[in-house]
Amino acid sequence: MHPNLTRAELTDRIRARALELGFEAVGIAPVRPSEHAERYGAWIGEGMHGEMAYLAREDAVAKRADPGVLVPDARSAVVVAIGYYSGDAEEADPSRGVVARYARNDDYHDLLKDRLIALQEWANAELTPLGGRAYVDAGPVLERELASRAGLGWFGRNTMLIQPRRGSYYFLGVLLLDVELEYDAPFTRDHCGSCSRCLSACPTGALLGRDEAGAPRMDARRCISYLTIELRGPIPRELRPLIGNRVYGCDICQEVCPWNSFAEPASDPAFIPRDGMEGPELIEWMGMTQEEFSRRFKGSAVKRTKRRGLLRNVAVALGNWGAPEAVPALAAALNDEEALVRGHAAWALGRIGTEAARQALSGRAEVEADAWVREEIALALGTDDRRQSDNQ
Ligand code: SF4
Ligand code: SF4
Repeated sequence: MHPNLTRAELTDRIRARALELGFEAVGIAPVRPSEHAERYGAWIGEGMHGEMAYLAREDAVAKRADPGVLVPDARSAVVVAIGYYSGDAEEADPSRGVVARYARNDDYHDLLKDRLIALQEWANAELTPLGGRAYVDAGPVLERELASRAGLGWFGRNTMLIQPRRGSYYFLGVLLLDVELEYDAPFTRDHCGSCSRCLSACPTGALLGRDEAGAPRMDARRCISYLTIELRGPIPRELRPLIGNRVYGCDICQEVCPWNSFAEPASDPAFIPRDGMEGPELIEWMGMTQEEFSRRFKGSAVKRTKRRGLLRNVAVALGNWGAPEAVPALAAALNDEEALVRGHAAWALGRIGTEAARQALSGRAEVEADAWVREEIALALGTDDRRQSDNQ
């Protein structure tokens, strides 16, 4: 350590610099094994992570269980938070899509990581030689657990880290450092109390309450964030009607949380929503070419779904809207090169059910080669025995 700095001074300087770099909250925790590792393993064992195989990889599980595996000499976790709330939006109009707030601006991963690295480099140059590594979401660190241990907030029943007076619309980042620092008191209280609004509001029943140790549980396979972002293939038919007009992620369990009534719109210009990301017109997005998709979502988290995933979601949202105005766009999507898009467009046309919708489906049935899309068309036309009740 710098000969003239005490541990407390080093901690204060790092904390102050983090705030100067634009982080709105900073907490510091000692690095030690996760208290949730066993339950995390059980959650994986029950398959609740769905297709997110990266969460179940042996090395990732080990690293999640103990951040010390990631950075062997890590002593301290500097946990930072920065708000992304963008106000209440227009979500009641079913002709428009809803993009989760965190994805309406530029992709936050690089931005947060750059700032964390800047913090480390500054401390290394100005204060004391230190090593470490920055993680933002993609890293196998359980940010929320570290944030709670660093005193920033508690795990809400909605699985989010909730900060008193701030709420949960926050990105979290972690800088693991190989120096001892002064640590914040862990946040031990559960301020959810008797509230269970998030559980009642979740349209798909993905939130399962707390386990016997008090940790919130979620079946990610039913969560709209998973279904619209992480899932690569078809969305299960029985869940499609529950997704409404959400085309990328879902904020419902945060919107209903009373602690988010304190949320202030993001002050950092990096997190001001991009044009067109609040209430995009579904019909317009349904016709998006690959070129438009690449241009529109350059540097945006939305590109994670690829064009075919986003248009799959848009088709579902149009089917849930159920308006005849959507038929031309969906009929055109029946000829899309991606089977995923064609199959969901067929489902949506089945939901709309007008003569024009049925004609489009019948026309495509004559030339469609993909077995799954043929099945979707048959279900939409009611010519398949497995026709779902929600299609009737
Ligand atoms: S994000 Fe949406 S679907 Fe997922 S748990 Fe929350 S309310 Fe349910
Ligand atoms: S809605 Fe209620 S139960 Fe859910 S996270 Fe917020 S305070 Fe906790």
